Amino acid sequence: MLRAEWEVSIRGMVSSVSVMTDPAQNVLLGLNQAELHALVDDLGEPSYRASQLLEAVYRQRVESVDQILTLPQQLRSKLTGMGVSIGVAKIEKRFVSQDGTVRYLMGFSDGQSVETVWMPEGDGGETGDGSEVGESGNGRAWDRATICISSQVGCAVDCQFCLTALLGVKRNLTAGEIVGQVCAVLKDQKVSPPQDRINLVFMGMGEPFLNYDNFMKAVRLLVEEVGLAESRMTVSTAGIVSRIHDFGLEAVRPKLAISLNASNDEMRTRLMPLNRKWNLEKLMAAAREFPLRNRERITFEYVLLNGVNDSKEAANEVSELLRGMRAKVNLIALNPGPGIQFATPAEDRVAAFQQVLIRAGVPAYVRRPRGRDIFAACGQLKRTVEIATAPVP
Ligand code: SAH
Repeated sequence: MLRAEWEVSIRGMVSSVSVMTDPAQNVLLGLNQAELHALVDDLGEPSYRASQLLEAVYRQRVESVDQILTLPQQLRSKLTGMGVSIGVAKIEKRFVSQDGTVRYLMGFSDGQSVETVWMPEGDGGETGDGSEVGESGNGRAWDRATICISSQVGCAVDCQFCLTALLGVKRNLTAGEIVGQVCAVLKDQKVSPPQDRINLVFMGMGEPFLNYDNFMKAVRLLVEEVGLAESRMTVSTAGIVSRIHDFGLEAVRPKLAISLNASNDEMRTRLMPLNRKWNLEKLMAAAREFPLRNRERITFEYVLLNGVNDSKEAANEVSELLRGMRAKVNLIALNPGPGIQFATPAEDRVAAFQQVLIRAGVPAYVRRPRGRDIFAACGQLKRTVEIATAPVP
């Protein structure tokens, strides 16, 4: 595709996503403190009702207005009568992996669905320190857990190695649908932050920076109302450079991860067509300018594709790109999938790539795949949607 054509098509994708209407109307999930105050004010109710709603929706994670027992019966009926609901994400299916990972299919009111993944014990490297936590002594086999959430139904970015890309993008998720995934998983797993150490990664289906406003509203709700720490959240972008700038200006924000996946422009454009618009020069300039907090580093993810981007020369190029940056690299050996034309490199190739980076002074970690047996690993989120919509034989 010519560059100009491609730019038109990505602009088309972005604008067609943003004009889609919010399917979740009259729902409480997704409303912030100010919006709930406005709502109770409109109803002629005292302002403390807003706090009761916040508590019920985000902390107790009730599933229906009827369950908000702090509200008088009359008000509950009034809200229900007006068609107001909580707007919970419905767990339609649950797939449990041998390694404890759970992949959830979450359904929304318009029939669309996304996948959300629960990874007990560790996150396979998102925290970047490579540590593993063993038995915790609290009666369960995990000491921390990571929830991987989706930001869009499908994805417009078209990375050649990713199964989600095959879906195309259906629509953006609302802030409530993003927060709703977290609430549904916390409830299902019977855990609550901050007592339980919960990390959050915006690394599921979709490109969070192409649904920026809803994603950021969800972040603020998760921090302020659900009680998750921003320091325990990481967002990953395929490299929407304009939004990397915006993100750096946010007062409250997760840590930043960038999907690098290639060591030069030619290779990256082949694997990630968005590199035509935001090439490595632009991407790395944005990453270098990104205002990091104390002790913070940018994570670069790099999916290793056998014989394509996993040579020692490529590793050298990556270390050149990252020279002098406060960065680390998470290496992910390709998680295979139907329709994906690449192969997974052998372990020794992955280790050799890692060694080149480490010798060049770039911290590099190999991420252990989670839930590959249930198609829950990076780049594999899509399967259930297909299975769920396929005609029963
Ligand atoms: N759209 C965002 C958020 C998704 S994060 C982004 O691209 O960053 C998902 C991560 O999984 C990305 O780093 C992506 O490069 C990686 N990934 C995609 N497909 C993969 C696959 N088949 N195997 C391993 N990792 C994959």
